[in-house]
Amino acid sequence: PLPPARESCVLAVDVGTTSVRCHVYDQRANIRGSCTKKVSLLYPEPGRVEMDPEELWQGFVTVVKGAVQDSGLQMCQMTALGISTQRATFTTWDRQTGKTFHNFISWQDLRAAEMVRSWNSSCTMKAVHGVMKVLHVLTRQKRFLAASLVVFTPQHVSLRLAWALRNLKQAVDEGTCLFGTIDTWLLYKLTKGKLASLLSVRTRSCSCCVNELRKNANVSVCESLLKSVPLLNMADQQAAMFGECCFDTGDVKITMGTGTFMDINTGNKPHTSVAGLYPLVGWKIGSEVVYLAEGNAAGTGTAIKWAQEIELFSDVKETDSMANSVKDSDGVCFVPSFSGLQAPLNDPKACAAFMGLKPSTTKSHLVRAILESIAFRNKQLFDVMLRETRIPIMKIRADGGVCTNDFIMQLTTDLLGRKISRPAHFDMSCLGAAFVAGLAVGYWKSKEELKKLQMSDRLFVPQSGKGGGCKDGVYKPVLQSWEEALQRSMHWYS
Ligand code: ADP
Repeated sequence: PLPPARESCVLAVDVGTTSVRCHVYDQRANIRGSCTKKVSLLYPEPGRVEMDPEELWQGFVTVVKGAVQDSGLQMCQMTALGISTQRATFTTWDRQTGKTFHNFISWQDLRAAEMVRSWNSSCTMKAVHGVMKVLHVLTRQKRFLAASLVVFTPQHVSLRLAWALRNLKQAVDEGTCLFGTIDTWLLYKLTKGKLASLLSVRTRSCSCCVNELRKNANVSVCESLLKSVPLLNMADQQAAMFGECCFDTGDVKITMGTGTFMDINTGNKPHTSVAGLYPLVGWKIGSEVVYLAEGNAAGTGTAIKWAQEIELFSDVKETDSMANSVKDSDGVCFVPSFSGLQAPLNDPKACAAFMGLKPSTTKSHLVRAILESIAFRNKQLFDVMLRETRIPIMKIRADGGVCTNDFIMQLTTDLLGRKISRPAHFDMSCLGAAFVAGLAVGYWKSKEELKKLQMSDRLFVPQSGKGGGCKDGVYKPVLQSWEEALQRSMHWYS
């Protein structure tokens, strides 16, 4: 008799802001093995946030090996590896030696804030904005209005890169300086630099790199690891959107991790925003290109982590019951602005703050105010999305570590007045990377097949009265005070 066919699986790695994790997925998208490693964030100076490239690379290799070992399978049973990484974190390195010139500069880093401010108030920007305004008046086309409002933010790579390149003049002049985000850096390491010119991987077809990578695999790293495994990479939010199977126009996902990222599928057209939503390429599979519009709030998990560090609670799981143990936040408002406020206020100089503290305020009130602020930011972003895109919302799905919090989920559901589904599997970026990689190698055949693999943990339904009660107007004055608190925290840092 023939020996039983060896089972094959798909590997996926997600390089998040707090951890690097790898899962081994089987045909039913069940996780068969996992490995996670914490990522150290370095804070060398106030406002600066960095990551050590070598630690990240070692973490990547460790989790891949660890997950395969955990699954009890062999590396040769892995048919593809999907990688999802954070987008706007970058480093630069030497083309010849592969040595990095500096640590990864994180998407949360504010070192370029001063350059951002001076560029935004420069004569060049004013002139460009002026021309765009005139064109808008003449043509009534929204894209000119949007262009007249475009400003740099510290989250954009461009000015942080300009900051870094100031100190790398020689390498830049000699043409030995390479720049890349984490995905590019990992591809460089995995292929020993053979793909150094393949910089814009994610705007190419999601499957086009398989063969190039297969040809160029870094044998020394991959001998026991990734020898002939096709790799595919994707940016984190696009991957999460794919993992959530938000394939149709009007599908929305809310990822609540270190930051919140709310994305809407805008179909085959990019969205022009005047309120600070980012138009993104979601994915390109075959000839189909899907666009997303994204709203972001940087201080979600960051606020929770900070609250834990100052011992408002010892375990994040307590936060839900602490928030429910009080009937409201005692009038306290929390401004979740550790890295400025993003859309729709777009102020990198806003400060984080508690406002309305009283002698009667307890830790539970403070925790409730923090959790409420996360749901309030969701509401703000959702309203902008509705107002600007005018696309009928088809479904909303949540993910990310913070979505395990029932208080935040229920309040968001009440404020949005829509059902929100929470999947059984939270690592959506990982699942999405696995899905894209699996589709590319024919492990899964179609997006319809992927939709059938989804498992929902809970469907949150808007409630009136208890919990949120937005419909009753219970939260209306609270939201108003909170919005007032945001206004007062703006332009704090001059
Ligand atoms: P990232 O992918 O950005 O690294 P995750 O999606 O893993 O982030 O989410 C991590 C964050 O989720 C941490 O800040 C953690 O404190 C927070 N978190 C985890 N569980 C809960 C919970 N039950 N309530 C609130 N926050 C939580």
